[in-house]
Amino acid sequence: MHRWTEDDERIGQEILAYARDRLALDPVPLDRPLPPSELERLAGQTVTPQGLGAEEAFRIFREILAPATISVDHPRFLSFIPAAPSDLAMLFDLVVGASSIYAGTWLEGAGAVFAENQALRWVADLAGLPPEAGGCFVSGGTAGNLAALVAARHTALDRRGGERPARWRVLASQEVHSSVATAASVMDVELVDVPSDDQGRMWGSAVRAALDELGDEGGVFAVVGSAGTTNLGVVDDLAGIAEVCAERGLWLHVDGAYGSAALAAPSARHLFAGVERADSFVVDPHKWLFAPYDCAALVYRDPELARRAHTQRAGYLEAITARDEWNPSDYAVHLTRRARGLPFWFSLAAHGTEAYAAAIERTLEVARAAVTEIDARSHVERVHDPMLTVIAFRRLGWEPEDYQRWSDRLLQDGYAFVVPTRHRGETIARIAIVNPLTTVDDVRGILDSMV
Ligand SMILES: *Cc1c(COP(=O)(O)O)cnc(C)c1O
Repeated sequence: MHRWTEDDERIGQEILAYARDRLALDPVPLDRPLPPSELERLAGQTVTPQGLGAEEAFRIFREILAPATISVDHPRFLSFIPAAPSDLAMLFDLVVGASSIYAGTWLEGAGAVFAENQALRWVADLAGLPPEAGGCFVSGGTAGNLAALVAARHTALDRRGGERPARWRVLASQEVHSSVATAASVMDVELVDVPSDDQGRMWGSAVRAALDELGDEGGVFAVVGSAGTTNLGVVDDLAGIAEVCAERGLWLHVDGAYGSAALAAPSARHLFAGVERADSFVVDPHKWLFAPYDCAALVYRDPELARRAHTQRAGYLEAITARDEWNPSDYAVHLTRRARGLPFWFSLAAHGTEAYAAAIERTLEVARAAVTEIDARSHVERVHDPMLTVIAFRRLGWEPEDYQRWSDRLLQDGYAFVVPTRHRGETIARIAIVNPLTTVDDVRGILDSMV
């Protein structure tokens, strides 16, 4: 199993050729899921005492399993938040996979951590965070939001001299991502809904009003501002919220998992004014920064505060904690970690940051053109003025079942993956564009399929 053999050589060539061919496909096949019974019938029992052999196991993956997984980088995958990893980022994922890197600590992963930190630095600079800012890459926005809020509460507890309030509370808009509610539940804190305006935007004034209502002993330790909500792509009034947080001594966490990639786009940068005052900040390179799963950048204004909350201590870790080095394990709820920032770093280092700005601008342009296309058609109607690349609209006269049937048919036909969403009680259509290969023609095709 561990010595390179002639068999390994043969299957190795085959696997590398497969990876190369997948990367060169244009377009990639959309594919679609199959029910468990169907996969059971096609693939059978694959884990056996004697093993199937690499050729057969790989055949099953290639012919049965891979076609039963949707390609998130298909240009007409416009559901949820898609992904569009660059070729170089995906290629480099192969290298990371082959390199046995332990990226939890500097001692073991120095070279990898050094490169990851330069990629994080770019992200911190985009947000305008100070030179001492830093953090680590985690699995996703969910893990990043949790880690940031844990650091926020730990800091608040320290400031209160260790005295806990009757109830800890976090404030966020009703439009905040579901993972913030999950983090609050894991931490057993109350998530307080702050009303947003009719476009889904949370304003500093609304945060101030909510804080006043809770009073002095509200136990509030953080406010989460969204820099691109998932459902509508709304960027909250970060400057106003930052002002209130500064007044009240509260931690500002900015969840930019999807949207804050647009910090790199000159045409959208102004939307994020105030993000430079965040105490912590998350953006997912596996969404709109062209990295493969799973990769989220988590950055703290003052990493020392996060380190106090997150460092694990034990006798077997003293060889690490006794050294004064930068350990990614100190900045989130994890210890062992894959060097998941390296594919992002490699692509960024190879292409340069200007190529990223241009690719993000391209998706913004397609989104603006999509708005024009929607407005030009009488069977559809927008439900908001898009700030980023999420566009929500209704098909006049459709019931929820009509949206579902339409969405199922597009997937069944291998044409597009566009699922409906719900907004203020209404089922509507929604597209999210992060793939520079998505064209206005793709959007036209989808709109015309709703006639
Ligand atoms: C996607 C998303 C998340 C969750 O990120 P994962 O990477 O899926 O864990 C959190 N917040 C926002 C705004 C998101 O769009």
